[in-house]
Amino acid sequence: MEFLTVIFVIFTCLSTTILAVILYLIYKNQVQLNMILKKESPTENPVEHKRVSTTTCVNHPDNRAKGSCSICESYYCELCLRQKVNIPVCSDHLSIVTDNKWIPVKTIYSTPDNPENGLEFHDLKRFHWKENQIPSYIETQYKINLDNEAIESFITLYTTEKHLSLFTKKSTDKNA
Ligand SMILES: [Zn+2]
Ligand SMILES: [Zn+2]
Repeated sequence: MEFLTVIFVIFTCLSTTILAVILYLIYKNQVQLNMILKKESPTENPVEHKRVSTTTCVNHPDNRAKGSCSICESYYCELCLRQKVNIPVCSDHLSIVTDNKWIPVKTIYSTPDNPENGLEFHDLKRFHWKENQIPSYIETQYKINLDNEAIESFITLYTTEKHLSLFTKKSTDKNA
């Protein structure tokens, strides 16, 4: 009888020790896991807000702008903005788009590494329209380069056939 009691006590002690070791290991793993999770949790990762257009239509101040006219670059709502092929245009300048033959002046190639390339065209376009009422529009075609997964863009500046010589001459003058 006494022998059995001793066995029982030893067994209980062993079980308790094993249980304690198991609990300790679980606790230790939990702490390590928490440390890893804390390290991996994104810190100060700003939530990117979707860009919502707050610009309003020049004709309807209560309406949110749908886009800008390709010729005058003013913002218009859904009611005012027309679409000629893939060129959004306001009603005032729709005839300029439809009644002219459009010729590409120049195409530039732009990548995310040199996005400033496109700005040159926008400056040129604005300058010609504001100073001389020479119409032009910019068309951008995007292409994904599968080799480096970069988005490349081909930005083309168009003007009307009758303004082409003026435009190219003026653009050379401006670049010089
Ligand atoms: Zn316009
Ligand atoms: Zn409008």
